Amino acid sequence: MQINNYYSPNFNKKKRLMNSIKIIVIHYTGMQSERESINRLCNSGSKVSSHFVINRNGKIYRLVQDYQVAWHAGKSCWGKYRNLNKNSISIELVNKGHQFGYTSFNKKQLLSLIKICKNLIKKYKIKKKYIVGHSDIAPLRKIDPGEKFPWKQLAKKNIGIWHDCKPNLLRKFRRIKLFTRQDKVKFIKNLNNIGYCVSVKKRSFFVKIVKAFQRHYRKELINGLPDKECLIIAENLSKKAIKNP
Ligand SMILES: [Zn+2]
Repeated sequence: MQINNYYSPNFNKKKRLMNSIKIIVIHYTGMQSERESINRLCNSGSKVSSHFVINRNGKIYRLVQDYQVAWHAGKSCWGKYRNLNKNSISIELVNKGHQFGYTSFNKKQLLSLIKICKNLIKKYKIKKKYIVGHSDIAPLRKIDPGEKFPWKQLAKKNIGIWHDCKPNLLRKFRRIKLFTRQDKVKFIKNLNNIGYCVSVKKRSFFVKIVKAFQRHYRKELINGLPDKECLIIAENLSKKAIKNP
């Protein structure tokens, strides 16, 4: 795996222990160009960085060393972890994002991503349920890497979790509302088991969390309303997440 070393000054000066690395967070850069993205991630004024960046051709850049805490997650939460910079490795995929023209990720780009992930999983014994998108850990603020990110395809390579419900059966439950309180409570419990930090303080918060879940696991309809299909998927994922804590 060829890696091009760059340098970003945006990391905590204190080194971390290797065994504090538990999570891989996937992002998109969300800027007009690759150069602009890397410049920003390496500019001390921006206060943001990433361990890795992968361009559209699959070229890999390392901006921050694994043993340094990069600044990419912001206020975030997943499972028992809070403010995930200290526990995570970040990978940015060059993509204009929703703001400037969101496109599918390239095959070469994904092949490089798979290589890096496999490497990190082995090196730091990262569990499947801890391979997540920025929107999963910060659903109130973020929507990257977005619904075009092929989570299902990655799960086939043992990167991240995916459900094993049949798509054509699931389809029948789409848009069927969760009527009972029991079902709603069950859905929230499942989200928590998967890793989502669910807040029902405000309705708008909950809608965003449901959207993050849908963007990841049910991209065909991202409306923020949990339906029966969402419940079935969440239940299946929840069981897997519990089995592999
Ligand atoms: Zn991000």
